[in-house]
Amino acid sequence: MRKTIIAGNWKMNKDASETEEFCVELGLYLGRHNEDRVLPLIAPGFPFLTRALEILSGLPAAVAAQDVSSHAAGAYTGEVAADQLRSLGLSHCIVGHSERRQYHSETDAEIRAKLLQLKKSGLIPIVCVGESLAQRENGETEQVVLAQMSGCFEQVDLETGREVVVAYEPVWAIGTGKTATAEQAQEVHGIIRDWLLQRYGADIAGRISILYGGSVKPGNLAELLQQPDIDGGLIGGASLQIADFCAMLDTAVQVVRGDSEC
Ligand code: PEP
Repeated sequence: MRKTIIAGNWKMNKDASETEEFCVELGLYLGRHNEDRVLPLIAPGFPFLTRALEILSGLPAAVAAQDVSSHAAGAYTGEVAADQLRSLGLSHCIVGHSERRQYHSETDAEIRAKLLQLKKSGLIPIVCVGESLAQRENGETEQVVLAQMSGCFEQVDLETGREVVVAYEPVWAIGTGKTATAEQAQEVHGIIRDWLLQRYGADIAGRISILYGGSVKPGNLAELLQQPDIDGGLIGGASLQIADFCAMLDTAVQVVRGDSEC
């Protein structure tokens, strides 16, 4: 019912030729492997989106931006609008990544504004939420994550549930090598799913993919994907090497097909 999404967030990594090389390799992999229930997605830097789209054109893969302006158009030097992204042919965009919250002081209200711009333009926002280490240690995980969900989705109507993706990314697990255990991640994913269910009803909540992010790598993905409310990964470091990315796609295919030895 929900696709498993293996999403690579490249952050400020890879130049033009490295992007090209990765996409060509990914295209070759996708030519050999096809599983409708798994969606590979990459989020290269803004300057390389067009080339990534060209190389992956016609293949079962998605290309995402890593951020978008909260404004529709106009005098906002350096910003990129949702309509501009749509005009390239993009399908997804990450919003509210913890690095944007931390280094650019993004608030839930601003993330909500970005989400609404994307929705209006027909792009699928990947909305990131997650607690810090101090908040987890203080027992505030649920409260923090649900406050972020409420702030980002305030008065946001959904029609199908397929028009947004949520990513749970505990800040203490991002780029640190510390992954939440599958049980820790499932607990929070379950809390997010319940919140979505109460807010939007069972049908819509059941169609929203909730990705886990935080030091996901080929060795720990299978256990995470086997959890009932984990519908994929938002992956930073381990998405940069094509071999690791393809290994994670293989894992996702094995999990959706129910192969026992993954
Ligand atoms: C991320 O960038 O969203 C992320 C989860 O990074 P990493 O996989 O490197 O922890």
